[in-house]
Amino acid sequence: MKTTTRVVVIGGGVVGASVLYHLTKLGWSDVMLLERSELTSGSTWHAAGGFHTLNGDTNMAALQGYTIKLYKELEEITGMSCGLHHVGGVTLADNQDRFDMLVAERAKHRYMGLETEIVGPEEIAKIAPVTNLDGIIGGLYDPLDGHLDPSGTTHAYAKAARMGGAEIVTYCMVTATIQRTDGTWDVVTDKGTIHTENIVNAGGLWAREVAAMAGIYAPLHPMEHQYIVTDDVPEIVERDSEHPHVMDPAGESYLRQEGKGLCIGFYEQPCRPWAVDGTPWNFGHELLPDDFDKITDSIEFAYKRFPALERAGVKSVVHGPFTFAPDGNPLVGPIPGLQGYWSACGVMAGFSQGGGVGLMLAQWMVEGECERDVTAMDVARFGDWITPGYTRPKVIENYQKRFSIAYPNEELPAARPHRMTPMYDIFSQHGAVWGHQYGLEVPNYFAQADEPTFEDPSFRRSNAFEAVAREVKSLRENVGITEVHNFGKYRIKGANVRAWLNRIMAGRIPKIGRISLTPMLSPKGKLMGDFTVSCLDENTFVLTASYGAQAQHMRWFLQHQESGVSIENISDKMNGFSIAGPKSRELLKLCTRNDADMRFLDVRQMTIGQVACTVNRVSYTGDLGYEIYCDPMDQRALWTTLWTAGQPMGLSLFGMRAIMSLRLDRFFGSWMREFSPDYTAAETGMDRFIKWDKDFIGKAAAEAETPARQLVTFEVDALDADVTAYEPIFIDGEVLGFCTSGGYSHHTGKSIAFGLIPKEHAKEGLNVEIEILGDLRPATLITQPIFDADGSRLRG
Ligand SMILES: Cc1cc2nc3c(=O)[nH]c(=O)nc-3n(C[C@H](O)[C@H](O)[C@H](O)COP(=O)(O)OP(=O)(O)OC[C@H]3O[C@@H](n4cnc5c(N)ncnc54)[C@H](O)[C@@H]3O)c2cc1C
Repeated sequence: MKTTTRVVVIGGGVVGASVLYHLTKLGWSDVMLLERSELTSGSTWHAAGGFHTLNGDTNMAALQGYTIKLYKELEEITGMSCGLHHVGGVTLADNQDRFDMLVAERAKHRYMGLETEIVGPEEIAKIAPVTNLDGIIGGLYDPLDGHLDPSGTTHAYAKAARMGGAEIVTYCMVTATIQRTDGTWDVVTDKGTIHTENIVNAGGLWAREVAAMAGIYAPLHPMEHQYIVTDDVPEIVERDSEHPHVMDPAGESYLRQEGKGLCIGFYEQPCRPWAVDGTPWNFGHELLPDDFDKITDSIEFAYKRFPALERAGVKSVVHGPFTFAPDGNPLVGPIPGLQGYWSACGVMAGFSQGGGVGLMLAQWMVEGECERDVTAMDVARFGDWITPGYTRPKVIENYQKRFSIAYPNEELPAARPHRMTPMYDIFSQHGAVWGHQYGLEVPNYFAQADEPTFEDPSFRRSNAFEAVAREVKSLRENVGITEVHNFGKYRIKGANVRAWLNRIMAGRIPKIGRISLTPMLSPKGKLMGDFTVSCLDENTFVLTASYGAQAQHMRWFLQHQESGVSIENISDKMNGFSIAGPKSRELLKLCTRNDADMRFLDVRQMTIGQVACTVNRVSYTGDLGYEIYCDPMDQRALWTTLWTAGQPMGLSLFGMRAIMSLRLDRFFGSWMREFSPDYTAAETGMDRFIKWDKDFIGKAAAEAETPARQLVTFEVDALDADVTAYEPIFIDGEVLGFCTSGGYSHHTGKSIAFGLIPKEHAKEGLNVEIEILGDLRPATLITQPIFDADGSRLRG
């Protein structure tokens, strides 16, 4: 066993083996994997081995597609068999909402190039004859669905990695990971200590314990999971081809052929977390005792859907644990603030996702960034607010909802409220209907007397439509107020701060008392953030950006930190309110003795009422407006001042739903919708903020780029549903683009969509069709904002 290496991967399950293989594939051969037992000794050996591409996140879906296609490559490289069965699969829909979801998924697949297909009951009867079609209205067929041999596949990854120069040491238990002062690591094992630049935690069932060795909390939890294999089934014996997979969301089950029988697994409601206080080190090669009690209801349902099951005897039961993150997606990437420590855990579908996880992590390590946006699986999508007490109920919720319909406006209730600002109870008294972002409660809208206090999850315009319309109207006609708690905020100070900001941000860095908007780019020219930068004095700047990207942005800042620059995340240390609308200046003036005549993009310190505030003359509503920041301890006093003064002029509350409608009017993009690491500044129009006559990260790539596509805006002839994201855009009957987001502009009564299309088509008046819930809706490209086109309100 070597004692120095570039990377130590801890864990020889399918994920660790994939990471190791991909590192060698990208050219790093001085890498090793340590496994405390044999390869596959965690969840991997008892998996059902199923794989599929379906995933609510399009990048995750694409990576699942990559994983599935990789198996053939592995077989060719190694000469080993992964035991592949490419049998295809159909997901059933037994009600309109489920069907809508499948249709929306199919629409996304169009521009992703996935050959899925919506099928009716007659086709399902032919594809999957063991299915009782009572109540089934349709389904989604995916020819890529299939299953494999979990052990053979893991060993194929391992062999391919060895062929690339990697060393694999089995029966080698890691007992400690200790960071040296230079940032490198000593990995202590029962066979000796290894010195390495990088550690990858691929500890699977033990990932929590492995993370704890480095003082980290890995936000995941193991859940018990059970599948049953039957004796031979006559309907299967008689077939001359293998029966495809059938996913039945109503029954929370997945079914496939195993030998000449069937195999069915359940995501049952009375599910159970496993090893709550830690995974025992002596667990590994055993299964959990059979537990038919918790799947009694599921089995009864399955007997109706698949009557052949009831007649078949049970051949074997597999009941084992595997891990989930709170949202069910993997936890991948560099741990923020910890040099050389990488996460590759929380992978609940190792045979659908393991290849993509390995590829992305290897690219991140070897090339410094991934080829696509991996936010959905970035370990930094959870901040240091996350605790085991939060993770456990969220994981249970995720398990239970594994096969549920995922609505675009749905708010999941488990582990909430978790984090609240001082305004929580006051806003609740004002009827706040709460949403949630990065652990924080955020008001979606404020329900008045007869308005719904619960927003029904829906693919169409929801029952909150009228309440949101009221909030928008009130703001555009008078003045509205909301909290500014859900911005990521950073205080950057020091003698070198201007020079540092000029390097890390692509745009202009403002003078004292002014604000600028700027993209932040990766070396490859991808968008890493869209920031508002305000200069308080020559050595003090405050940056604001997406609240949900805090840990990602801090990780980036700290990776690029220089001497003479101090960086503090003050997202929860600076709070306050946004006031916006034609009477917002009047309201501000009523509340301060300071000069409140601010130009657009001014920043000023003021006393408002009795509270020391920083006021930014900006508003995401596209209207005249101000963001007023203060210490959270002063926030309630500030609220009393503003709310009391605003009553005679009709001041009203507005929430996130109204903001997301208001921003449409002036075509304001949003982080992780229009702007994300999938896109460049030139593609999204963010290049208009770039200051080209300076050096900044990503400049060479940005200068060299000739964008093939462009972000544009459409007015859509919609019915009762608006664009949410990733709907395909048809130009002359061909899918040539996709939507990034959209919605209903309550102020103008128009349905608006943003999307990326080939640059040569991006012309005013272009007529396209956008597929919304299976319907091709006509849409027209527009270039002028539909509110305040000359900017006189916003800038006036
Ligand atoms: C019943 C059941 C059915 C499933 N069916 C499917 C399915 O059909 N399709 C699918 O995609 N997924 C399925 N899964 C999930 C799948 O098993 C997991 O996604 C996958 O195995 C996770 O792999 P891993 O490498 O992350 O973790 P693990 O398989 O748990 O591997 C972790 C490895 O790390 C090693 N290790 C841990 N700590 C140390 C240490 N300190 N030192 C050295 N080594 C260490 C362990 O010994 C272990 O071998 C199923 C799971 C269960 C329980």
